[in-house]
Amino acid sequence: MTVNRMKEVKHFINGEFVGSASGKLFDNINPATGQKIGIVHEAGAPEVDAAVNAARMALQGEWGRMPLAERADLLHKLADGITARFDEFLEAECLDTGKPQKLACHIDIPRGAANFKIFADVVKNVPTESFVLDTPDGQGALNYSLRKPKGVIAVISPWNLPLLLMTWKVGPALACGNTVVVKPSEETPFTTALLGEVMNQVGIPKGVYNVIHGFGPNSAGEFLTRHKGVDGITFTGETDTGAAIMKAAADDITDISFELGGKNPALVFADCDMDKAIEGTLRSAFANCGQVCLGTERIYVERTIYDEFVDRLKTGAETLKLGQWDDPKTDMGPLISHQHRDKVLSYYRKAEEEGATVVTGGSTPNMPETLAGGAWVQPTIWTDLRDDASCIREEIFGPCCHIRPFDSEEEAIALANDTDYGLATAIWTENSARAHRVAAQVDAGIAWVNSWFLRDLRTPFGGAKQSGIGREGGVHSLEFYTELKNVCIKL
Ligand code: NDP
Repeated sequence: MTVNRMKEVKHFINGEFVGSASGKLFDNINPATGQKIGIVHEAGAPEVDAAVNAARMALQGEWGRMPLAERADLLHKLADGITARFDEFLEAECLDTGKPQKLACHIDIPRGAANFKIFADVVKNVPTESFVLDTPDGQGALNYSLRKPKGVIAVISPWNLPLLLMTWKVGPALACGNTVVVKPSEETPFTTALLGEVMNQVGIPKGVYNVIHGFGPNSAGEFLTRHKGVDGITFTGETDTGAAIMKAAADDITDISFELGGKNPALVFADCDMDKAIEGTLRSAFANCGQVCLGTERIYVERTIYDEFVDRLKTGAETLKLGQWDDPKTDMGPLISHQHRDKVLSYYRKAEEEGATVVTGGSTPNMPETLAGGAWVQPTIWTDLRDDASCIREEIFGPCCHIRPFDSEEEAIALANDTDYGLATAIWTENSARAHRVAAQVDAGIAWVNSWFLRDLRTPFGGAKQSGIGREGGVHSLEFYTELKNVCIKL
């Protein structure tokens, strides 16, 4: 299917593309141009019901009985099916988000496909525990654990890395034998729909993968999280949305796994390799137009190298090329929507009101006429904000960062930890003792040293504090996607 033919995006329920009974539709907008590129069916309660019921039925059918090796094989075929249609996925993702193909063809699409293979392999190879228990009669008892699928998993995903973050959940869910109902962000419906086609192509049984489109509160997202047929909810998105979903899940004690917001620090020590620190921080602050949960919005630099760092990051930010997704020279696309641009620009204004020095950016760029209707903003760097300024405390999720000097390692750690969030940190130092010491003390789920976004999918991923609940990745994903059952046999 080409994106062209996908312009009308329907739900994918029980292996078929179906429209909404209500006839309700919403527009899909290309954020680079502001132009409409599709219409999307909006799910109401009946479509959510149908999707959850299809997922429940599939658990009882061929999928539920399928041997693990066969299931793992199918997931490998699914990954290969995505790769075979790489260009379609790439175009779909770039049109939905405006992100440059340079980024999406290295990150979004290949990692989206890899998520199916890695989890199929993990599930095939992970052992469970066993214990021999002494008993008074001297015969003992043998305990062993079985991993069972949890059931129907609701997957609620955001717009910043749509395919990657959705498959990061669907991959392990299916590998563990669950079925899913996915609610992508209404901003980015294309790749979830395209994946439905690949599911059918490779022979994933009907009802295993279902997609409903729509909005969050009082719409498809909320109907799904409140549905009694759902056994677990995995969500990536804003912390406030996580709180709303947690409340919805509480009524039926539905299990949750949350990857939420961040306000991530970078710590740049005087003993860093400055070239590496600048290159890495340019990516961590501005990649995907700053719309990466792991991105850096607070940069703390040792005072002796502060001026040089600020100058060089400014030069780097000013050389980033904003443009169309399919121009190979484009480094940065637009924000996801005009609504999000309004939010980011409100922080640009607030930073100045709160006393920031604008090192570069701070406004909207002049774009060529074809892109003038897009949600563009300038990459922006501030200095001189107080530690309690809103741009230091709140997640902005745009291409912007603040740089502040520090004088000691202790001060740097205290500043890094002075936040409600705890997702990721980047530490730049060539002193390995310092790297270990600081990494251990920053309150975050991930500490990168002399790197950023370097992800081994076997490792735990998730946030501390208000950045999430639970860990995904490798064997850690099994915690949420399976129920462990202990079998105790008296010998
Ligand atoms: P949102 O929280 O706005 O939305 C995420 C998803 O939840 C969307 O599909 C949304 O639907 C849906 N939703 C919204 N309200 C409800 C509700 N009450 N019940 C059920 N579903 C609901 O996040 P964004 O899409 O704006 O994504 C950006 C956020 O995601 C940032 O905060 C970022 O830090 C975080 N994020 C975290 C990551 C991590 O790993 N920790 C990774 C990537 C992003 P709709 O869009 O239709 O409103």
